[in-house]
Amino acid sequence: MSETEIWKNREALQEQADFSSHLFQLQNRITSKDFSKYFQLTESEIIGIEKTIRLNVGTTPYYLLLADPLDDHCPIRRMIIPNEKETFLSPEESIDPLNEERLSPVPGLTHMYPDRVLLFSNHECSVYCRHCMRGRKVSFSKERMDGDALEKCFSYIRNHPEISDVVISGGDPLNLSDNKIDWILSNLEEIEHVKICRLGTRNPVTNPMRITDKLCEVILKHNSDRLSIFCNTQFNHPKECTTEAKEAIFKLLRAGVSLGNQAVLLKGINDKPETMLDLHRKLLEMRVRAYYLYDPELIPGSRGFRTSLSKGLEIIEFMRGKIAGMGIPQFVNDLPGGGGKITLSPNWYLGYHKSSRAHVFRSALTGDFHFSYEPMDSESTSLYQEISEQDFQSYLSSSSNPSKDPFLLPKKI
Ligand code: SF4
Repeated sequence: MSETEIWKNREALQEQADFSSHLFQLQNRITSKDFSKYFQLTESEIIGIEKTIRLNVGTTPYYLLLADPLDDHCPIRRMIIPNEKETFLSPEESIDPLNEERLSPVPGLTHMYPDRVLLFSNHECSVYCRHCMRGRKVSFSKERMDGDALEKCFSYIRNHPEISDVVISGGDPLNLSDNKIDWILSNLEEIEHVKICRLGTRNPVTNPMRITDKLCEVILKHNSDRLSIFCNTQFNHPKECTTEAKEAIFKLLRAGVSLGNQAVLLKGINDKPETMLDLHRKLLEMRVRAYYLYDPELIPGSRGFRTSLSKGLEIIEFMRGKIAGMGIPQFVNDLPGGGGKITLSPNWYLGYHKSSRAHVFRSALTGDFHFSYEPMDSESTSLYQEISEQDFQSYLSSSSNPSKDPFLLPKKI
């Protein structure tokens, strides 16, 4: 299709009377068979579409129009259209890298941490994100999360008083009807020991029209003294921070929902430190706090997305000092095999020097070495990683910070 025709098709799509309705967006999702009307597809994308081993291909018209029709490096386009790299399985990849199925006492529920469960309320999403780590659920699942299946999950939660926090994910829980969401939240609200409910949704990014006044009324009704509702969303690139997305976020905020962002670090999409900083600045402007930056999971066909671990550390190091702490995500690896999340951070703590009681730090802002002192009566000195005399002297001589000599610091009376 020619460039002119592609632009015309896009215009026609945008001009549809119901374009701003979330139902229009869902009912008119664009699948791979129609992609050539809206994109000049490359050879690699055509192969990716035909032979992907990841998950289905499809997007809302809204999200499609954020993607560049001509540039296959466009970050939004890369999250929608598979390419050739999605057709290869690497030996370290697995369909369930976090072992969530093994940790599932009843279908549709994962119980990994003692006080929290993950409830898979449904397997539908507005967009099939190429980097999705739940392809096994959203594309290939035989599991049906109907009323009976959900009842079994509620019953498990009821019988486990240690569970105080329920994460609802999927799929995307906001792809359920308002009535079903109402019913799920009512059930959780009635369980005395459940205090927190977290909705994991990408709809503010991929179908922001879904955040309707009616949905917010339902959420507000259950966001009570009894139950605190949080929402974790997933913006991955500044291009996703549109006026529509901002409006959706503001509606959720008015429903008393506390919002955090869980970005995924994606090669060639958001792995430049400046991009990640820009994204988190825009998110803070929308009043969304940074939560996690995920090191991508070892899912089938993910080699095109995965970055080296050092990339995430470089990004966090770059961001520190350039944005308020609430705009800096925790860089996490959800341990393969199901060991839970661990946070990774640049090496700012350099070690402990026993004879001077000094802890040595590297400033994220200036790179200079700083010294802080363990209390004289400390009984914890054996817990620290010790540094050699030689290294300590080297830090001292290179530091220009007054903390290196406690006797020179102004005395506090
Ligand atoms: S919205 Fe979430 S669950 Fe659905 S495809 Fe995207 S990343 Fe996967």
